[in-house]
Amino acid sequence: SGKRWSGRPGPASEQAGAPLDNARIRTRFPPEPNGYLHLGHAKSICLNFGLARDYGGTCHLRFDDTNPEKEDQEYVDSIIDAVRWLGFDWHDDQNRSCLFYASDYFEYMYQFAEALIEAGHAYIDQQSPDEMRAMRGTLTEPGTDSPWRNRPEAESLALFREMRAGKHPDGSMALRARIDMASPNINLRDPVIYRIRHAHHHRSGDAWPIYPMYTYAHPIEDALEGITHSICTLEFEDQRPFYDWLMARLAELGCLSEPLPHQYEFARMNLSYVVTSKRKLRQLVTESHVSGWDDPRMPTLAGLRRRGYTPTAIRLFCDRLGVSKSDSRIDYSVLEQALRDDLDPVAARAVAILDPIRLVITNYPEGQHETCHAPRNPHDHDAGTREFPFGRMLWIERDDFREEAPKKFFRLFPGNMVRLKYAYVIRCTGFTKDAHGNVVEVQAEYLPDTRSGTPGADSVKVKGAITWISQAHAQPAEIRLYDRLFTHPHPDSGDLDFLAHINPDSIRTVQGWVEPSLDAQQDSHWQFERLGYFAADSRDSTPEKLVLNRTTTLKDSWGK
Ligand code: ATP
Ligand code: MG
Ligand code: MG
Repeated sequence: SGKRWSGRPGPASEQAGAPLDNARIRTRFPPEPNGYLHLGHAKSICLNFGLARDYGGTCHLRFDDTNPEKEDQEYVDSIIDAVRWLGFDWHDDQNRSCLFYASDYFEYMYQFAEALIEAGHAYIDQQSPDEMRAMRGTLTEPGTDSPWRNRPEAESLALFREMRAGKHPDGSMALRARIDMASPNINLRDPVIYRIRHAHHHRSGDAWPIYPMYTYAHPIEDALEGITHSICTLEFEDQRPFYDWLMARLAELGCLSEPLPHQYEFARMNLSYVVTSKRKLRQLVTESHVSGWDDPRMPTLAGLRRRGYTPTAIRLFCDRLGVSKSDSRIDYSVLEQALRDDLDPVAARAVAILDPIRLVITNYPEGQHETCHAPRNPHDHDAGTREFPFGRMLWIERDDFREEAPKKFFRLFPGNMVRLKYAYVIRCTGFTKDAHGNVVEVQAEYLPDTRSGTPGADSVKVKGAITWISQAHAQPAEIRLYDRLFTHPHPDSGDLDFLAHINPDSIRTVQGWVEPSLDAQQDSHWQFERLGYFAADSRDSTPEKLVLNRTTTLKDSWGK
Protein backbone atom coordinates (compact mmCIF):
# COMPACT_ATOMS: atom_id res chain seq x y z
CA SER A 1 0.00 0.00 0.00
CA GLY A 2 2.97 2.28 -0.50
CA LYS A 3 4.71 4.69 1.79
CA ARG A 4 2.68 5.69 4.81
CA TRP A 5 5.16 8.06 6.33
CA SER A 6 7.95 10.06 4.87
CA GLY A 7 10.81 11.25 6.92
CA ARG A 8 10.51 10.95 10.65
CA PRO A 9 6.93 11.72 11.52
CA GLY A 10 7.41 11.54 15.24
CA PRO A 11 5.67 13.71 17.74
CA ALA A 12 9.11 14.93 18.81
CA SER A 13 9.76 16.59 15.50
CA GLU A 14 6.14 17.68 15.14
CA GLN A 15 5.89 19.19 18.56
CA ALA A 16 9.38 20.53 18.44
CA GLY A 17 8.56 22.04 15.07
CA ALA A 18 11.98 21.60 13.48
CA PRO A 19 14.02 18.77 12.02
CA LEU A 20 16.05 16.87 14.54
CA ASP A 21 19.73 17.48 14.55
CA ASN A 22 21.04 13.99 13.92
CA ALA A 23 24.57 14.83 14.95
CA ARG A 24 23.40 15.15 18.51
CA ILE A 25 22.84 12.43 21.02
CA ARG A 26 19.28 11.92 22.14
CA THR A 27 18.50 9.66 25.08
CA ARG A 28 15.33 9.04 27.01
CA PHE A 29 14.23 8.04 30.46
CA PRO A 30 11.08 5.96 29.94
CA PRO A 31 9.33 5.12 33.21
CA GLU A 32 6.04 3.34 33.30
CA PRO A 33 3.71 5.45 35.46
CA ASN A 34 2.71 2.55 37.67
CA GLY A 35 4.54 3.55 40.83
CA TYR A 36 6.95 6.05 42.33
CA LEU A 37 10.55 6.24 41.19
CA HIS A 38 13.18 4.50 43.28
CA LEU A 39 16.97 4.50 43.52
CA GLY A 40 17.27 2.15 40.55
CA HIS A 41 15.46 4.71 38.45
CA ALA A 42 17.78 7.41 39.77
CA LYS A 43 20.64 5.44 38.29
CA SER A 44 18.90 5.37 34.91
CA ILE A 45 17.98 9.07 35.14
CA CYS A 46 21.54 10.09 35.95
CA LEU A 47 22.86 7.94 33.13
CA ASN A 48 20.44 9.13 30.44
CA PHE A 49 20.20 12.79 31.41
CA GLY A 50 23.91 12.80 32.27
CA LEU A 51 24.91 11.52 28.81
CA ALA A 52 22.76 14.10 27.10
CA ARG A 53 24.21 16.86 29.23
CA ASP A 54 27.81 15.74 28.77
CA TYR A 55 27.50 15.46 24.98
CA GLY A 56 25.38 18.52 24.36
CA GLY A 57 22.30 16.49 23.51
CA THR A 58 18.79 16.12 24.89
CA CYS A 59 17.18 13.58 27.15
CA HIS A 60 13.46 12.97 26.81
CA LEU A 61 11.21 12.18 29.71
CA ARG A 62 8.79 9.67 28.24
CA PHE A 63 5.95 7.99 30.03
CA ASP A 64 5.77 4.43 28.86
CA ASP A 65 2.05 4.19 29.46
CA THR A 66 1.02 1.24 27.31
CA ASN A 67 -0.29 -0.88 30.19
CA PRO A 68 -3.58 0.75 31.17
CA GLU A 69 -4.60 -1.23 34.25
CA LYS A 70 -1.81 -0.27 36.61
CA GLU A 71 -1.12 3.28 35.52
CA ASP A 72 -2.30 6.49 37.06
CA GLN A 73 -1.94 10.26 36.89
CA GLU A 74 -0.70 10.31 40.49
CA TYR A 75 2.36 8.38 39.34
CA VAL A 76 2.90 10.67 36.35
CA ASP A 77 2.93 13.67 38.68
CA SER A 78 5.24 12.05 41.19
CA ILE A 79 7.70 11.09 38.44
CA ILE A 80 7.81 14.60 36.98
CA ASP A 81 8.39 15.92 40.46
CA ALA A 82 11.17 13.43 41.20
CA VAL A 83 13.10 14.04 37.96
CA ARG A 84 12.95 17.78 38.54
CA TRP A 85 13.99 17.39 42.14
CA LEU A 86 17.00 15.34 41.07
CA GLY A 87 18.03 18.38 39.06
CA PHE A 88 17.33 17.28 35.49
CA ASP A 89 15.40 18.92 32.72
CA TRP A 90 13.85 17.60 29.51
CA HIS A 91 13.99 20.77 27.44
CA ASP A 92 16.22 20.81 24.38
CA ASP A 93 18.72 23.53 23.54
CA GLN A 94 15.92 25.61 22.04
CA ASN A 95 13.85 25.25 25.19
CA ARG A 96 11.31 22.91 23.61
CA SER A 97 9.79 20.47 26.05
CA CYS A 98 10.71 16.85 25.37
CA LEU A 99 8.17 15.32 27.71
CA PHE A 100 6.22 12.66 25.85
CA TYR A 101 3.68 9.92 26.39
CA ALA A 102 3.81 6.58 24.60
CA SER A 103 0.02 6.69 24.51
CA ASP A 104 0.25 9.67 22.15
CA TYR A 105 1.75 7.29 19.59
CA PHE A 106 -1.00 4.68 19.68
CA GLU A 107 -2.22 5.68 16.24
CA TYR A 108 1.28 5.37 14.77
CA MET A 109 1.75 2.01 16.39
CA TYR A 110 -1.56 0.85 15.02
CA GLN A 111 -0.82 2.05 11.49
CA PHE A 112 2.61 0.45 11.59
CA ALA A 113 1.01 -2.82 12.66
CA GLU A 114 -1.34 -2.70 9.66
CA ALA A 115 1.69 -2.16 7.43
CA LEU A 116 3.40 -5.18 8.98
CA ILE A 117 0.30 -7.33 8.39
CA GLU A 118 0.00 -6.26 4.77
CA ALA A 119 3.66 -7.10 4.20
CA GLY A 120 3.25 -10.56 5.72
CA HIS A 121 5.27 -9.72 8.84
CA ALA A 122 2.41 -10.15 11.28
CA TYR A 123 -0.73 -12.24 11.63
CA ILE A 124 -3.74 -12.64 13.87
CA ASP A 125 -3.49 -15.71 16.04
CA GLN A 126 -6.72 -17.08 17.51
CA GLN A 127 -5.11 -19.50 19.89
CA SER A 128 -5.64 -18.85 23.57
CA PRO A 129 -2.75 -17.31 25.52
CA ASP A 130 -2.19 -20.74 27.15
CA GLU A 131 -2.01 -22.47 23.81
CA MET A 132 0.45 -19.91 22.51
CA ARG A 133 2.64 -20.40 25.54
CA ALA A 134 2.57 -24.17 25.16
CA MET A 135 3.57 -23.89 21.49
CA ARG A 136 6.47 -21.56 22.17
CA GLY A 137 8.91 -24.38 22.86
CA THR A 138 11.74 -24.22 25.37
CA LEU A 139 15.39 -23.24 25.46
CA THR A 140 16.27 -26.61 23.93
CA GLU A 141 13.11 -27.35 21.90
CA PRO A 142 11.96 -25.22 18.98
CA GLY A 143 8.44 -23.84 19.00
CA THR A 144 5.57 -25.03 16.85
CA ASP A 145 3.83 -22.95 14.20
CA SER A 146 0.37 -21.72 15.08
CA PRO A 147 -2.40 -23.07 12.83
CA TRP A 148 -3.16 -19.40 12.00
CA ARG A 149 0.38 -18.53 11.00
CA ASN A 150 -0.17 -18.75 7.27
CA ARG A 151 -3.64 -17.27 7.03
CA PRO A 152 -4.07 -14.70 4.24
CA GLU A 153 -2.92 -11.16 5.02
CA ALA A 154 -6.34 -9.79 4.16
CA GLU A 155 -7.93 -12.01 6.78
CA SER A 156 -5.50 -10.88 9.47
CA LEU A 157 -6.02 -7.26 8.49
CA ALA A 158 -9.80 -7.59 8.72
CA LEU A 159 -9.57 -9.23 12.13
CA PHE A 160 -7.10 -6.65 13.36
CA ARG A 161 -9.51 -3.91 12.35
CA GLU A 162 -12.29 -5.71 14.20
CA MET A 163 -10.06 -5.95 17.25
CA ARG A 164 -9.50 -2.23 17.07
CA ALA A 165 -13.23 -1.68 16.69
CA GLY A 166 -13.80 -3.53 19.95
CA LYS A 167 -15.60 -6.48 18.42
CA HIS A 168 -13.68 -9.21 20.22
CA PRO A 169 -13.26 -10.07 23.88
CA ASP A 170 -9.97 -9.96 25.80
CA GLY A 171 -7.71 -12.90 25.05
CA SER A 172 -9.71 -14.19 22.09
CA MET A 173 -6.99 -13.30 19.58
CA ALA A 174 -3.73 -11.38 19.33
CA LEU A 175 -1.46 -9.93 16.69
CA ARG A 176 1.88 -11.71 16.42
CA ALA A 177 5.02 -10.81 14.53
CA ARG A 178 5.84 -13.46 11.96
CA ILE A 179 9.51 -14.21 12.48
CA ASP A 180 10.77 -17.71 13.27
CA MET A 181 9.24 -20.31 15.60
CA ALA A 182 12.52 -22.24 15.55
CA SER A 183 14.75 -19.33 16.53
CA PRO A 184 17.17 -20.15 19.34
CA ASN A 185 16.10 -16.80 20.81
CA ILE A 186 12.63 -17.41 22.24
CA ASN A 187 11.87 -13.70 21.91
CA LEU A 188 11.90 -14.11 18.15
CA ARG A 189 9.36 -16.95 18.11
CA ASP A 190 6.54 -14.86 16.75
CA PRO A 191 6.13 -12.54 19.74
CA VAL A 192 2.71 -11.05 20.44
CA ILE A 193 2.75 -7.37 19.52
CA TYR A 194 -0.88 -6.37 20.15
CA ARG A 195 -3.42 -7.75 22.56
CA ILE A 196 -7.05 -7.02 23.33
CA ARG A 197 -7.67 -5.16 26.59
CA HIS A 198 -11.00 -3.54 27.17
CA ALA A 199 -9.49 -1.26 29.76
CA HIS A 200 -9.72 2.41 30.59
CA HIS A 201 -6.48 4.28 30.06
CA HIS A 202 -5.57 7.23 32.29
CA ARG A 203 -4.91 9.43 29.24
CA SER A 204 -6.52 7.89 26.15
CA GLY A 205 -9.66 6.92 28.06
CA ASP A 206 -11.73 4.27 26.27
CA ALA A 207 -10.48 5.08 22.78
CA TRP A 208 -8.50 1.85 22.50
CA PRO A 209 -9.68 -1.69 23.22
CA ILE A 210 -6.29 -2.97 22.06
CA TYR A 211 -2.85 -2.15 23.44
CA PRO A 212 0.63 -2.70 22.00
CA MET A 213 3.05 -4.92 23.89
CA TYR A 214 6.02 -3.20 25.48
CA THR A 215 8.52 -4.90 23.17
CA TYR A 216 6.69 -3.59 20.14
CA ALA A 217 5.83 -0.17 21.49
CA HIS A 218 9.19 0.74 22.92
CA PRO A 219 11.31 0.63 19.74
CA ILE A 220 8.65 2.63 17.91
CA GLU A 221 8.59 5.26 20.65
CA ASP A 222 12.36 5.54 20.41
CA ALA A 223 12.32 5.84 16.63
CA LEU A 224 9.51 8.40 16.52
CA GLU A 225 11.39 10.60 18.95
CA GLY A 226 14.68 10.31 17.11
CA ILE A 227 16.41 8.64 20.04
CA THR A 228 20.00 7.73 19.23
CA HIS A 229 20.86 5.67 22.31
CA SER A 230 18.09 3.57 23.82
CA ILE A 231 19.60 2.52 27.11
CA CYS A 232 17.97 -0.22 29.13
CA THR A 233 18.85 -2.81 31.74
CA LEU A 234 20.53 -6.10 30.94
CA GLU A 235 17.42 -8.26 31.03
CA PHE A 236 16.46 -6.67 27.70
CA GLU A 237 19.60 -7.89 25.98
CA ASP A 238 17.68 -10.86 24.51
CA GLN A 239 15.10 -8.42 23.18
CA ARG A 240 17.63 -6.50 21.14
CA PRO A 241 17.30 -8.82 18.09
CA PHE A 242 13.57 -8.11 18.04
CA TYR A 243 14.21 -4.39 18.49
CA ASP A 244 16.50 -4.47 15.45
CA TRP A 245 14.16 -6.74 13.47
CA LEU A 246 11.26 -4.36 13.99
CA MET A 247 13.33 -1.29 13.10
CA ALA A 248 14.52 -2.93 9.90
CA ARG A 249 11.01 -4.00 8.82
CA LEU A 250 9.46 -0.62 9.55
CA ALA A 251 12.27 1.10 7.69
CA GLU A 252 11.76 -1.18 4.66
CA LEU A 253 8.07 -0.35 4.73
CA GLY A 254 8.78 3.37 4.80
CA CYS A 255 7.22 3.79 8.22
CA LEU A 256 10.53 4.89 9.72
CA SER A 257 13.66 6.34 8.23
CA GLU A 258 17.37 6.21 9.02
CA PRO A 259 19.16 6.84 11.27
CA LEU A 260 17.42 4.39 13.55
CA PRO A 261 17.97 4.09 17.27
CA HIS A 262 20.14 1.44 18.85
CA GLN A 263 19.64 -0.33 22.11
CA TYR A 264 22.41 -0.53 24.71
CA GLU A 265 22.23 -2.42 27.96
CA PHE A 266 23.73 -1.84 31.39
CA ALA A 267 23.44 -3.64 34.71
CA ARG A 268 20.54 -2.96 37.04
CA MET A 269 21.37 -1.36 40.29
CA ASN A 270 20.72 -3.53 43.33
CA LEU A 271 21.25 -2.32 46.86
CA SER A 272 21.85 -4.45 49.91
CA TYR A 273 18.88 -4.64 52.31
CA VAL A 274 16.71 -2.74 49.82
CA VAL A 275 13.82 -3.73 47.58
CA THR A 276 13.78 -1.97 44.21
CA SER A 277 10.86 -3.57 42.48
CA LYS A 278 7.86 -1.34 41.99
CA ARG A 279 5.53 -4.29 42.47
CA LYS A 280 6.99 -5.02 45.89
CA LEU A 281 7.17 -1.37 46.86
CA ARG A 282 3.51 -1.03 45.90
CA GLN A 283 2.70 -3.99 48.10
CA LEU A 284 4.45 -2.35 51.06
CA VAL A 285 2.23 0.68 50.52
CA THR A 286 -1.10 -1.03 49.83
CA GLU A 287 -0.69 -3.45 52.73
CA SER A 288 0.33 -0.59 55.06
CA HIS A 289 3.73 -1.94 56.01
CA VAL A 290 4.85 1.66 55.50
CA SER A 291 2.93 4.92 55.70
CA GLY A 292 3.03 5.62 51.96
CA TRP A 293 5.27 5.87 48.90
CA ASP A 294 7.11 8.71 50.63
CA ASP A 295 7.65 6.92 53.92
CA PRO A 296 11.20 7.90 54.94
CA ARG A 297 12.17 4.22 55.04
CA MET A 298 11.25 3.69 51.40
CA PRO A 299 13.97 3.64 48.71
CA THR A 300 11.73 5.84 46.55
CA LEU A 301 13.03 9.27 45.64
CA ALA A 302 10.03 10.73 47.47
CA GLY A 303 10.94 8.72 50.57
CA LEU A 304 14.63 9.55 50.40
CA ARG A 305 13.82 13.20 49.95
CA ARG A 306 11.58 13.20 52.99
CA ARG A 307 14.21 11.32 54.94
CA GLY A 308 16.64 14.17 54.21
CA TYR A 309 18.65 12.94 51.23
CA THR A 310 19.71 15.71 48.89
CA PRO A 311 19.59 15.51 45.08
CA THR A 312 23.33 16.13 45.04
CA ALA A 313 23.97 13.15 47.28
CA ILE A 314 21.89 10.87 45.08
CA ARG A 315 23.61 12.07 41.91
CA LEU A 316 26.99 11.62 43.59
CA PHE A 317 26.00 8.10 44.59
CA CYS A 318 24.95 7.22 41.04
CA ASP A 319 28.14 8.68 39.58
CA ARG A 320 30.26 6.69 42.00
CA LEU A 321 28.59 3.45 40.92
CA GLY A 322 29.67 3.94 37.35
CA VAL A 323 28.06 1.99 34.52
CA SER A 324 28.58 -1.72 34.45
CA LYS A 325 27.70 -4.65 32.25
CA SER A 326 27.61 -7.15 35.08
CA ASP A 327 25.12 -7.36 37.91
CA SER A 328 26.30 -6.43 41.33
CA ARG A 329 24.87 -5.39 44.64
CA ILE A 330 25.86 -2.08 46.09
CA ASP A 331 26.30 -1.67 49.80
CA TYR A 332 23.83 0.76 51.28
CA SER A 333 26.67 2.53 53.06
CA VAL A 334 27.79 3.95 49.68
CA LEU A 335 24.58 5.97 49.58
CA GLU A 336 25.01 7.17 53.15
CA GLN A 337 28.59 8.19 52.51
CA ALA A 338 27.48 10.25 49.50
CA LEU A 339 25.13 12.20 51.76
CA ARG A 340 27.84 12.80 54.34
CA ASP A 341 30.22 13.97 51.63
CA ASP A 342 27.61 16.37 50.30
CA LEU A 343 26.50 17.78 53.64
CA ASP A 344 29.62 17.76 55.79
CA PRO A 345 31.14 20.88 54.18
CA VAL A 346 27.89 22.86 54.25
CA ALA A 347 25.38 21.62 56.80
CA ALA A 348 24.68 23.76 59.85
CA ARG A 349 25.79 22.12 63.07
CA ALA A 350 23.47 21.79 66.00
CA VAL A 351 23.20 20.00 69.30
CA ALA A 352 20.33 17.67 70.04
CA ILE A 353 19.70 15.45 73.02
CA LEU A 354 17.78 12.32 72.08
CA ASP A 355 17.56 10.55 75.44
CA PRO A 356 17.62 13.40 77.94
CA ILE A 357 18.62 13.33 81.57
CA ARG A 358 18.92 16.39 83.84
CA LEU A 359 22.30 17.80 84.76
CA VAL A 360 22.43 20.37 87.59
CA ILE A 361 25.49 22.63 87.91
CA THR A 362 25.18 23.05 91.64
CA ASN A 363 27.68 25.92 91.96
CA TYR A 364 26.11 28.02 89.18
CA PRO A 365 23.57 30.63 90.34
CA GLU A 366 19.90 29.83 89.85
CA GLY A 367 18.11 31.84 87.17
CA GLN A 368 21.36 33.15 85.66
CA HIS A 369 22.56 32.42 82.12
CA GLU A 370 25.53 33.28 79.94
CA THR A 371 26.02 32.83 76.19
CA CYS A 372 28.43 30.34 74.68
CA HIS A 373 29.52 30.27 71.04
CA ALA A 374 30.09 27.48 68.54
CA PRO A 375 30.85 27.48 64.81
CA ARG A 376 27.90 27.07 62.46
CA ASN A 377 30.15 24.85 60.38
CA PRO A 378 33.76 24.14 61.41
CA HIS A 379 34.81 23.85 57.72
CA ASP A 380 33.32 27.19 56.81
CA HIS A 381 34.51 30.09 58.91
CA ASP A 382 32.43 32.57 56.94
CA ALA A 383 29.32 30.83 58.21
CA GLY A 384 29.93 32.48 61.56
CA THR A 385 28.96 31.26 64.99
CA ARG A 386 25.82 30.21 66.73
CA GLU A 387 24.90 31.13 70.26
CA PHE A 388 23.54 29.02 73.00
CA PRO A 389 22.99 29.82 76.60
CA PHE A 390 24.59 28.08 79.54
CA GLY A 391 23.01 27.92 82.98
CA ARG A 392 22.43 25.83 86.06
CA MET A 393 19.90 23.38 84.61
CA LEU A 394 20.96 21.44 81.51
CA TRP A 395 19.94 18.43 79.42
CA ILE A 396 22.56 15.83 78.58
CA GLU A 397 22.39 12.37 76.96
CA ARG A 398 21.58 9.62 79.40
CA ASP A 399 24.34 7.55 77.85
CA ASP A 400 26.95 10.16 78.77
CA PHE A 401 26.60 9.29 82.44
CA ARG A 402 27.47 6.02 84.20
CA GLU A 403 27.11 5.20 87.86
CA GLU A 404 30.17 3.07 87.49
CA ALA A 405 32.46 3.69 84.59
CA PRO A 406 33.57 0.80 82.41
CA LYS A 407 37.14 0.81 81.13
CA LYS A 408 37.87 3.62 78.67
CA PHE A 409 34.70 5.48 79.57
CA PHE A 410 35.80 9.11 79.64
CA ARG A 411 32.47 10.83 80.10
CA LEU A 412 30.53 11.55 83.30
CA PHE A 413 30.73 9.38 86.40
CA PRO A 414 31.10 10.37 90.03
CA GLY A 415 34.41 12.13 90.59
CA ASN A 416 35.27 12.45 86.88
CA MET A 417 35.77 15.64 84.90
CA VAL A 418 34.58 16.32 81.35
CA ARG A 419 34.22 19.34 79.16
CA LEU A 420 30.76 20.58 78.34
CA LYS A 421 31.43 21.35 74.70
CA TYR A 422 31.86 25.10 74.00
CA ALA A 423 31.49 25.83 77.76
CA TYR A 424 33.20 24.73 80.96
CA VAL A 425 34.94 21.75 82.44
CA ILE A 426 32.72 20.18 85.11
CA ARG A 427 33.34 17.63 87.84
CA CYS A 428 30.59 15.10 88.58
CA THR A 429 29.61 15.25 92.23
CA GLY A 430 26.62 12.96 92.50
CA PHE A 431 23.34 11.65 91.07
CA THR A 432 19.77 10.95 92.10
CA LYS A 433 17.64 7.87 91.46
CA ASP A 434 13.89 7.47 91.41
CA ALA A 435 11.94 4.75 93.28
CA HIS A 436 12.64 2.26 90.47
CA GLY A 437 16.38 2.74 90.68
CA ASN A 438 16.63 4.80 87.48
CA VAL A 439 19.00 7.72 87.46
CA VAL A 440 16.92 10.88 87.01
CA GLU A 441 19.44 13.61 87.72
CA VAL A 442 23.20 14.10 87.69
CA GLN A 443 24.95 16.78 89.73
CA ALA A 444 28.21 18.50 88.92
CA GLU A 445 30.26 21.62 89.69
CA TYR A 446 31.76 23.79 86.98
CA LEU A 447 35.31 25.16 87.02
CA PRO A 448 34.83 28.89 86.32
CA ASP A 449 38.31 29.44 84.83
CA THR A 450 37.95 26.81 82.11
CA ARG A 451 35.49 28.47 79.76
CA SER A 452 36.18 27.57 76.10
CA GLY A 453 37.88 30.32 74.17
CA THR A 454 39.44 31.90 77.26
CA PRO A 455 43.12 31.61 78.27
CA GLY A 456 42.23 29.19 81.07
CA ALA A 457 40.43 26.77 78.80
CA ASP A 458 43.32 24.34 78.72
CA SER A 459 44.39 24.75 82.35
CA VAL A 460 42.57 21.53 83.22
CA LYS A 461 43.09 18.54 80.90
CA VAL A 462 40.12 16.22 80.42
CA LYS A 463 39.65 13.20 78.18
CA GLY A 464 35.99 13.59 77.31
CA ALA A 465 33.65 16.24 75.95
CA ILE A 466 29.86 15.97 75.97
CA THR A 467 27.00 17.89 74.38
CA TRP A 468 24.33 19.65 76.39
CA ILE A 469 21.45 22.12 76.09
CA SER A 470 20.13 24.66 78.58
CA GLN A 471 16.78 23.43 79.85
CA ALA A 472 15.23 26.88 79.84
CA HIS A 473 16.10 27.40 76.18
CA ALA A 474 15.83 23.95 74.63
CA GLN A 475 13.25 23.41 71.89
CA PRO A 476 11.27 20.18 72.13
CA ALA A 477 11.33 17.95 69.04
CA GLU A 478 9.95 14.65 67.95
CA ILE A 479 12.85 12.78 66.45
CA ARG A 480 12.47 9.72 64.23
CA LEU A 481 15.36 7.31 64.09
CA TYR A 482 15.44 4.77 61.29
CA ASP A 483 17.02 1.46 60.68
CA ARG A 484 16.97 -0.69 57.54
CA LEU A 485 13.49 -1.74 56.43
CA PHE A 486 14.55 -5.34 55.80
CA THR A 487 16.70 -7.62 57.86
CA HIS A 488 17.66 -9.75 54.86
CA PRO A 489 20.59 -8.53 52.73
CA HIS A 490 18.84 -9.49 49.48
CA PRO A 491 15.15 -8.95 50.26
CA ASP A 492 14.10 -8.88 46.60
CA SER A 493 15.89 -12.01 45.52
CA GLY A 494 13.90 -14.55 43.52
CA ASP A 495 11.45 -16.61 45.53
CA LEU A 496 12.15 -15.09 48.94
CA ASP A 497 9.05 -14.04 50.89
CA PHE A 498 10.28 -10.49 51.32
CA LEU A 499 7.49 -9.51 53.71
CA ALA A 500 8.70 -12.11 56.17
CA HIS A 501 11.95 -10.17 56.47
CA ILE A 502 10.61 -6.75 57.38
CA ASN A 503 12.58 -5.27 60.25
CA PRO A 504 10.11 -4.77 63.14
CA ASP A 505 12.37 -2.04 64.57
CA SER A 506 12.88 0.04 61.46
CA ILE A 507 11.55 3.19 63.13
CA ARG A 508 11.97 4.49 66.65
CA THR A 509 10.46 7.79 67.73
CA VAL A 510 11.88 9.76 70.64
CA GLN A 511 10.95 13.05 72.30
CA GLY A 512 14.17 14.98 72.50
CA TRP A 513 15.52 18.51 72.70
CA VAL A 514 17.33 20.64 70.16
CA GLU A 515 19.37 23.76 70.77
CA PRO A 516 17.60 27.10 70.63
CA SER A 517 19.42 28.40 67.54
CA LEU A 518 18.04 25.65 65.32
CA ASP A 519 15.76 27.30 62.79
CA ALA A 520 13.69 25.01 60.59
CA GLN A 521 12.53 27.99 58.51
CA GLN A 522 16.10 28.81 57.58
CA ASP A 523 17.78 25.41 57.20
CA SER A 524 16.49 22.06 56.07
CA HIS A 525 19.43 19.82 56.94
CA TRP A 526 21.64 19.71 59.99
CA GLN A 527 24.49 17.77 61.32
CA PHE A 528 23.68 17.08 64.93
CA GLU A 529 26.95 16.77 66.75
CA ARG A 530 27.82 13.18 67.49
CA LEU A 531 24.41 11.95 66.20
CA GLY A 532 24.24 12.24 62.43
CA TYR A 533 22.45 14.16 59.71
CA PHE A 534 18.87 15.19 60.30
CA ALA A 535 16.13 16.93 58.32
CA ALA A 536 12.73 18.35 59.16
CA ASP A 537 9.95 15.99 58.13
CA SER A 538 8.24 17.66 55.18
CA ARG A 539 4.85 16.20 56.03
CA ASP A 540 4.65 16.37 59.80
CA SER A 541 6.95 19.13 60.99
CA THR A 542 5.31 22.51 61.75
CA PRO A 543 6.60 25.72 63.31
CA GLU A 544 4.71 24.72 66.46
CA LYS A 545 5.93 21.14 66.54
CA LEU A 546 9.30 20.15 65.17
CA VAL A 547 9.47 16.66 63.70
CA LEU A 548 12.92 15.59 62.58
CA ASN A 549 14.14 12.56 60.66
CA ARG A 550 17.56 11.12 61.07
CA THR A 551 18.81 10.75 57.51
CA THR A 552 21.94 8.87 58.45
CA THR A 553 24.35 8.45 61.33
CA LEU A 554 27.79 10.05 61.25
CA LYS A 555 29.60 6.78 60.72
CA ASP A 556 28.77 3.66 58.82
CA SER A 557 26.73 1.43 61.08
CA TRP A 558 25.56 -0.98 58.39
CA GLY A 559 28.41 -3.39 58.49
CA LYS A 560 27.93 -4.04 62.22
P1 ATP B 1 10.46 -2.13 38.27
O1 ATP B 1 10.94 -3.52 38.06
O2 ATP B 1 10.85 -1.53 39.57
O3 ATP B 1 9.02 -1.96 37.95
P2 ATP B 1 10.98 -1.15 35.69
O4 ATP B 1 12.23 -1.27 34.95
O5 ATP B 1 9.87 -2.01 35.25
O6 ATP B 1 11.29 -1.30 37.23
P3 ATP B 1 10.28 1.33 34.54
O7 ATP B 1 9.35 2.38 35.01
O8 ATP B 1 9.96 0.64 33.29
O9 ATP B 1 10.43 0.32 35.73
O10 ATP B 1 11.77 1.90 34.49
C1 ATP B 1 12.14 3.05 33.80
C2 ATP B 1 13.60 2.97 33.50
O11 ATP B 1 14.34 2.82 34.69
C3 ATP B 1 13.92 1.78 32.63
O12 ATP B 1 14.68 2.23 31.54
C4 ATP B 1 14.69 0.86 33.51
O13 ATP B 1 15.70 0.24 32.79
C5 ATP B 1 15.28 1.77 34.58
N1 ATP B 1 15.42 1.06 35.84
C6 ATP B 1 14.44 0.56 36.61
N2 ATP B 1 14.94 -0.07 37.67
C7 ATP B 1 16.29 0.04 37.60
C8 ATP B 1 17.39 -0.40 38.39
N3 ATP B 1 17.20 -1.10 39.51
N4 ATP B 1 18.63 -0.08 37.98
C9 ATP B 1 18.84 0.62 36.88
N5 ATP B 1 17.85 1.06 36.08
C10 ATP B 1 16.59 0.78 36.41
MG1 MG C 1 9.53 -1.42 32.76
MG1 MG D 1 8.31 -3.25 36.11
